[in-house]
Amino acid sequence: MGKERKTIGVLTSGGDAPGMNAAVRAVVRMGINRGFSVVGIRRGYSGLLANDMDDMDLRSVSDILQRGGTVLYSSRCPEFSEQRNIKKAVENCRKAGIDALVTIGGDGTFRGALDLCREGLPCIGLPGTIDNDISSSEYTIGFDTAVNTVVQMVDRVRDTSQSHDRCSVIEVMGRHAGHIALYAGIACGALAVLVPEIEFTIERDVVAKMVSSLRQGKQNFIVMVAEGVGHAPAIAEQIESLTGIDTNAVVLGYVQRGGSPTARELVIASQMGHHAVELIEQGIGKRVVVFRGGKVVDLDIEEALAMHKGIDMDLYRVANDISI
Ligand code: ADP
Repeated sequence: MGKERKTIGVLTSGGDAPGMNAAVRAVVRMGINRGFSVVGIRRGYSGLLANDMDDMDLRSVSDILQRGGTVLYSSRCPEFSEQRNIKKAVENCRKAGIDALVTIGGDGTFRGALDLCREGLPCIGLPGTIDNDISSSEYTIGFDTAVNTVVQMVDRVRDTSQSHDRCSVIEVMGRHAGHIALYAGIACGALAVLVPEIEFTIERDVVAKMVSSLRQGKQNFIVMVAEGVGHAPAIAEQIESLTGIDTNAVVLGYVQRGGSPTARELVIASQMGHHAVELIEQGIGKRVVVFRGGKVVDLDIEEALAMHKGIDMDLYRVANDISI
């Protein structure tokens, strides 16, 4: 016997990111608008296994749009790679009356969603991570805010750098992906951007450029480093010993994850949440909602996970060509 009203579950998983709340809000509001009940699951897949969930209504998502982090909390749940736990999660959803699930997170979260789909629970993944390292999407929820935060922080560093030191090495997040470093590097007018995707040497890509810029009268330098290429203090020491120029290091760390989402973030996250419910309404599952070619579209989860995204080489050329 079918229920009168179908139910959508929503969760956030993996690293939290500003804008996740806007996506949750859009799922709840659009879900209710289209006649669904919506259940919020706390702490990602851990909450699904622990039955940590509650009904959400229009008011449960009031006043969350501008808040960073995720009101549903997030977690990493290593047990989710075990098949028996996938089955348990699907069983818990059945018991809670959840007919379809929206999971907001990174590629790991999408893999979990794919496993759930294979066990018969339709899932829609939304890309949420500050690193922009989801292979299928040109843009991920959290990235724009993180880049803007880095730019604001570097502006402050630059004020003091201009008064005392002459070079600042800024370490930003990105263990395997240099998207934050590249975008923020261009936006901050960095002399050099060092990312894990592209080979470099400090001598050629930093020191030689610095010496040539010094000759042309430049006095202050920002070097933007993704954490995956090494630690800023060690790189700063190397630059100082090779050039004799006072060089400091700033490791931005977790401040990059927090803060109110930018307008761009809020708009795209809202579009993505809206799109997810439209898919569920049409009875479509096993999809991820992604940003491609400037539009919010959807792809099969497996197809999405098989994609590869490298660093934007056109943008890297821009960074290099104008930092002289
Ligand atoms: P992200 O979603 O940001 O990539 P993780 O890689 O930590 O972050 O993945 C988030 C969660 O997704 C994991 O803690 C785990 O619960 C689930 N997950 C990751 N990989 C798999 C997998 N291969 N199969 C099932 N679940 C997975």
